[in-house]
Amino acid sequence: MKEKHFSEKISSIGKTENKRKKTALRVGFPRSLLYYKFHVLWTVFFETLGAEVIVSPPTNKEIKDVSVKSAPDEDCYSTKLYFGHVLYLKDKVDYLFIPRFSSDHKTDISCPKFIGLAEVLRSMFPDLPPILMPYYSKAKDGHGNIRLIRIAFSLGFKFTRNPFRILHSFVKSFRRFKQYHDDLYISEDELRRWERNEFVFNKTISTTNKTNPFKIALVGHSYVINDSYSSLSIKEMLLAEKVEIITSEQLPRSVIEHQMSKLDFNMYFRYEREILGTVMHFLENETVDGILQLIVFSCGPDSIGGEMASRFSRRKQNVPLLQLTLDELTSESGVTTRLEAFLDLIERRKKLKENEIICP
Ligand code: SF4
Repeated sequence: MKEKHFSEKISSIGKTENKRKKTALRVGFPRSLLYYKFHVLWTVFFETLGAEVIVSPPTNKEIKDVSVKSAPDEDCYSTKLYFGHVLYLKDKVDYLFIPRFSSDHKTDISCPKFIGLAEVLRSMFPDLPPILMPYYSKAKDGHGNIRLIRIAFSLGFKFTRNPFRILHSFVKSFRRFKQYHDDLYISEDELRRWERNEFVFNKTISTTNKTNPFKIALVGHSYVINDSYSSLSIKEMLLAEKVEIITSEQLPRSVIEHQMSKLDFNMYFRYEREILGTVMHFLENETVDGILQLIVFSCGPDSIGGEMASRFSRRKQNVPLLQLTLDELTSESGVTTRLEAFLDLIERRKKLKENEIICP
């Protein structure tokens, strides 16, 4: 009897959930570009409002093929991929969420593509579902907290009439977002300890082994480093080789800002600062064995950051820098060969250094 009661309860929960799922509005979030920066913030926000967030799958061959066919030829590879993710979601959702985020800094901005993309997609594909495209720019329009609250309410009223629920979702999502960043960025103290080999991030490396692992700084846009398909699984390849990686996403913001303050001009592309600051830090401190920079083909900011990184590395040659440019035509075998050659070079340099220490 008890069992029956229990199973009835379960099925009634199932029915309620199904009903909730059926009635919940579906918001499509393309797993590309700003998704990798803001997924925690917006996913928690919409879900707390009762919406169902549908994220496109990690980039795959089908998405790439659709992207290449549908996006303008002159777009950078990352923007092209965005098209494939949007078209994947097109018929599966009630709304598409494409934030037009420009800047959360007084002077520095993100790539202008982030701002125009929603409108471009809407004009190229008129049959897309309605696009939620909040715009935020501290640098260009002096936006601040009031703007954020306005955005939260204008989005929130599409899902509920209850302003307290919107406020609750907003506060909850911001807390999670902050926590996410606290977990992602390492502190200056952690960086120093990592540089002194006191711990490793790669769990497959034995810390009891006396020989230090190869350490590589992997720098690039978060939507490249974390997208295995577009980066041709470079991160995974390095981890499989038991290389210890630190990424530009992890570096303390204070370290990046310290490096940027040494430039005699303002590098005003926000995410390029992260990339260049990381390169400059490791060239100066020589605490990694190599730097691997992932550059997106036809990316404007990368063409500046990449050129500067390459000039700085010619001045400070103790840490080798490998720059790999990625686009839809880059072959995995070509990248693997260059990566293997880079690791060989690092190994030879390490051996030479060790020999120099033994027989000065
Ligand atoms: S920063 Fe570069 S890679 Fe990113 S969207 Fe802009 S042009 Fe493309």
